[in-house]
Amino acid sequence: MDMENKEQEQETEKPEENEYEDVCFVCHRPESSAGKMIHLTKDISICPECMQRTMDMMSSGNVDYKKLDFSRMPNISMINLADLQNLIPRRQKVKKKAPQKQEGPEKALDIRSIPAPHKIKERLDEYVIGQEQAKKVISVAVYNHYKRVAAGSEADGIEIEKSNMLMIGPTGSGKTYLVKTLARLLDVPLAIADATSLTEAGYIGDDIESVLSKLLAAADNDVEKAERGIVFIDEIDKIAKKKNTNQRDVSGESVQQGMLKLLEGAQIEVPVGANSKNAMVPLETINTRNILFICGGAFPDLENIIKERLNKRSSIGFRADLKDKYDEEKNLLRQVTVEDIRKFGMIPEFIGRLPVIFTLDALTEDMMVSVLKEPKNAILKQYQKLLMLDEVRLDFTEEALHAIARRAMEKDTGARALRAIIEEFMLDIMYEVPKDDNIGQVLITEDYIEHRGGPLITMRGVPALEMQG
Ligand code: ADP
Repeated sequence: MDMENKEQEQETEKPEENEYEDVCFVCHRPESSAGKMIHLTKDISICPECMQRTMDMMSSGNVDYKKLDFSRMPNISMINLADLQNLIPRRQKVKKKAPQKQEGPEKALDIRSIPAPHKIKERLDEYVIGQEQAKKVISVAVYNHYKRVAAGSEADGIEIEKSNMLMIGPTGSGKTYLVKTLARLLDVPLAIADATSLTEAGYIGDDIESVLSKLLAAADNDVEKAERGIVFIDEIDKIAKKKNTNQRDVSGESVQQGMLKLLEGAQIEVPVGANSKNAMVPLETINTRNILFICGGAFPDLENIIKERLNKRSSIGFRADLKDKYDEEKNLLRQVTVEDIRKFGMIPEFIGRLPVIFTLDALTEDMMVSVLKEPKNAILKQYQKLLMLDEVRLDFTEEALHAIARRAMEKDTGARALRAIIEEFMLDIMYEVPKDDNIGQVLITEDYIEHRGGPLITMRGVPALEMQG
């Protein structure tokens, strides 16, 4: 009876365990590629090949165990396998890839389930203010990308080119936010990496792969899911080739070189749950063919390069007259060409692998005001909801919002400054309001933002103040 119970117990555990497969302790290959594992202890397994190799070595005659006297060799001791359990990760298993046949038309990204570009843009509009051109380009590129993934390389041999993207825009114009929103809407895993961190490590090769480790983690170690994900590499302009040096440029150019393989599509061995390969970390092979890479950067100085080119083009013979013709031109970045980016210091092979190039505009004061109040999860809406839980109405006058936007503009970090500024003003409100149960409405005015007065408070039972803006 007891035995029966035990067996039942084991069986009920099985479904969850079945999701994971053992990894060889010696060569780190998972069971699916190395064959049925031999279990040495509960957590340590070894594949037949490695076991065979060990046996071969022992029986080859090269090692004469009889002559070995371990007690005379202070550096050699027999290992207790149980001790190893403390050395290895708690769970030396990786999630199994689903069997091939399940990848049928229903399971793979179905071409019909990918929203049309205008639908993707519509959803982006709910969150991202302005940046019309960027939203349009990214919607079309993403649509094409997943269409390409769904189509695969059919028998006709026509393979659609990968639509990796290069996104150029000032700090705080919404580059990261755009990608994050997109990944959430499409429900695909997203990894965000910083190109500068890739330059810092000594072993560049390993570090570039860490981008994929992050993606794998975002996909819950599900390789198949990760292979359809998005990788966003920020600050890509920081790995530009250094200008005017004859020395080998180890930080920038070599990282660009290292990334080529990744961008193009290759089988890459990726450490699971770590940033670098080491003996104790299991490896997984990820194919980057269907991973969408989006690179973003502020590219300071690029405007000057564009200006210089435009000036040259139009100034044969009249250079001095036209020198500052483009100085006042807004959104000069929109006129960027591949040649300009190459001049900035990106190598041609790298640019070649990012066929979709688009720009984001710097946010204007009006756009900042919209960022404060319009997106679905706008900062103002969040504060309003918080106070509403105390049954207090929170309003801002238009002038107050513009005053906040102006302050943010001074910081030159785009919309990033908004949250810090508004938090500073809201701190007192959030502290004082819950003290008094009679408060029914708080109206934030320009005077309050400019430190010329306090917010207007209305008590419960009194009609709420209407906004003057
Ligand atoms: P960067 O371009 O430097 O990557 P981010 O995307 O990190 O800038 O923007 C910082 C924050 O500013 C975002 O989290 C978002 O809340 C806000 N933001 C920036 N641009 C926009 C925009 N166009 N629409 C709505 N919110 C924005």
